[in-house]
Amino acid sequence: MANGSGGDAEHYDVAVVGGGPAGFAAAIAAADQGARTLLLEAAPALGGNATGAFVHTICGLFAPVSTGSSAFVNPGLPARFVDALLRAGAAGPAEEVGRVRVLPTDPARIGAVISAECQKRRSLVVRLEARLQAARLAAAAGPSELAGLGPTGPFRISSELVVDASGEAALGAAGGAATERASDAECQLPSYIVRLAGVPEADTAGYGRLRFTVALARATRQGGLTPRAESALLRPVPGSRDAYMTLNLSRELLVETQDAPAALEGLAREVVDDAVRHLRANRSGYQDCRVVSWPRQVGRREAARLRGRTVVEAEPLLAGLRSDQEVALSSWPIELWHDHRGATYRHPEAPYGVPLGALISATHARLGVAGRCMSASHEALGALRVIGTALATGEAIGIAAALAADRASSLAEVSPAEVRAAAGRSITG
Ligand SMILES: Cc1cc2nc3c(=O)[nH]c(=O)nc-3n(C[C@H](O)[C@H](O)[C@H](O)COP(=O)(O)OP(=O)(O)OC[C@H]3O[C@@H](n4cnc5c(N)ncnc54)[C@H](O)[C@@H]3O)c2cc1C
Repeated sequence: MANGSGGDAEHYDVAVVGGGPAGFAAAIAAADQGARTLLLEAAPALGGNATGAFVHTICGLFAPVSTGSSAFVNPGLPARFVDALLRAGAAGPAEEVGRVRVLPTDPARIGAVISAECQKRRSLVVRLEARLQAARLAAAAGPSELAGLGPTGPFRISSELVVDASGEAALGAAGGAATERASDAECQLPSYIVRLAGVPEADTAGYGRLRFTVALARATRQGGLTPRAESALLRPVPGSRDAYMTLNLSRELLVETQDAPAALEGLAREVVDDAVRHLRANRSGYQDCRVVSWPRQVGRREAARLRGRTVVEAEPLLAGLRSDQEVALSSWPIELWHDHRGATYRHPEAPYGVPLGALISATHARLGVAGRCMSASHEALGALRVIGTALATGEAIGIAAALAADRASSLAEVSPAEVRAAAGRSITG
C-alpha cells in the first residue's frame, strides 16, 4: 500500500469512504452507536450527487401511491433527515408523480444540513477534499489501513471496520475486494443538470415539458444539436422562475471518456453550452436563456459496485420479497436510462427487503458497502441507487459496522434483527 505522511496512523472504529447520501447516513449511524468514526470525502462538500450534481428530488422515501399511505418506507434516519431538510427550507412538500411520491429538494441547501448533522456528533470526524487512493483491507480479523491525499498532504489511517460509500466501489477496488461493473453497452447514461434562467413558464409544466423534450430530441436527430446530447428534461425550481435542465449524455461520450473522467466534465459543459445556444437561436421565448448555476460534477448513475455476500437480483426486488435478513426497504421502481427515449420503469409489487448480505463484501468480512455501489445486478441497482434507499442502506451498514467494531467481530456476525432494532434511534438527538 502507498505510504502516507509517516508516523503513527490515526485509528478509528469505523471509517466511511464517500460523503454522499449513503456515506453520510453510514457515518452518523455509526457515530450514534458510539463508534469513533471517520468520514472521508474527496469533494470540497458533502452530499455526493444530491449536492454536487444538482439532483433535486429524493426518490425511494415513500410507499407507492397505490398503497394509499404517505408513510416513510424506512422510518429512522431517512425520515429524520427529511424532517431536518424541511425545517431548514432545503426541501418542499412531497409530490405525487404518477405511481410514486418524491421529495423536491434544493441542492444548494442540502450540504449545510448534512454538515450540521455531522457536527452534532462528537465521535464523528469529517475530512473534506480527502481522496482515498490506496487500501490494505483486512480479509477476516484485524484493522484495515487506508491512505490518500488530503488538503494538507498525504494521510494514512487505520480502522477496525470500513464502509465503501464512494458510489464507484473505490475502496473495494483499492483494497483488492471483488467488484463488478456493467458493460459499456448496458451502463446507465450520465446526465448534466444545470440551473437555467430565461425559460418560458409554459415549458416547465404539463405538456410544455414534453414539447421541450421532443423539440430537443428532434434537433439532435436532425443535426441542429450535437449527437452527444441524447435528450433533455425541464423541471421548475420551486419558489423561483428558474428551471433545472437535465441533459442526458450519449453512450459514445460515456465510453470515450471512461478512462479520463475529467474529460467528461469538460465535454459535458460544451454539450450544455451548445444546447443553450440552440434554444436561444431557435426556440420562441428563449432569447434570454442562460445557465445561472453549474454543478460541481456530471451526474453518474452507475459505475463499479462491490460484490457482496448476497447479490440483489431484479426478480425478488420486483416481487417485493421480504425476509428475516432484511435491514432496509427498497420501494423505487427499476429505473434505467439507456438511450434517447429517456428512462424505462418497472414497478415492484411491494417494497423489497434489502438483506444485510448485500451490504457486506463477499471477499472481505470487515468491509461494508451502501448506496450506489452496493451489491446488486445492473438491473436491480436501477431501483436501489436512489437517495432514499441510499440513506437507508447507509444507516443499516453504519449500525452494523459500529456493532461489529464494539465486539471485534466481522460484519457477518451481526444479526439483521439487531440492525433493524437499532435503526429506530434518533438522528437529531
Ligand atoms: C442525473 C441523475 C439524476 C438522478 N436523479 C435522482 C432523483 O431524482 N432522485 C433520487 O433519489 N436519486 C436520483 N439519482 C440517484 C442518486 O443521486 C444517487 O444514486 C445517490 O446520490 C447515491 O448516493 P451515494 O452516496 O451512494 O453516491 P454518491 O452520491 O455518488 O456519493 C459518493 C461520494 O463518494 C465520494 N468519493 C468517490 N470516490 C472517493 C474517494 N476515492 N475518496 C473519497 N471520496 C470519494 C464522491 O465524491 C461522492 O461525494 C440521480 C442520479 C443521477 C446521476
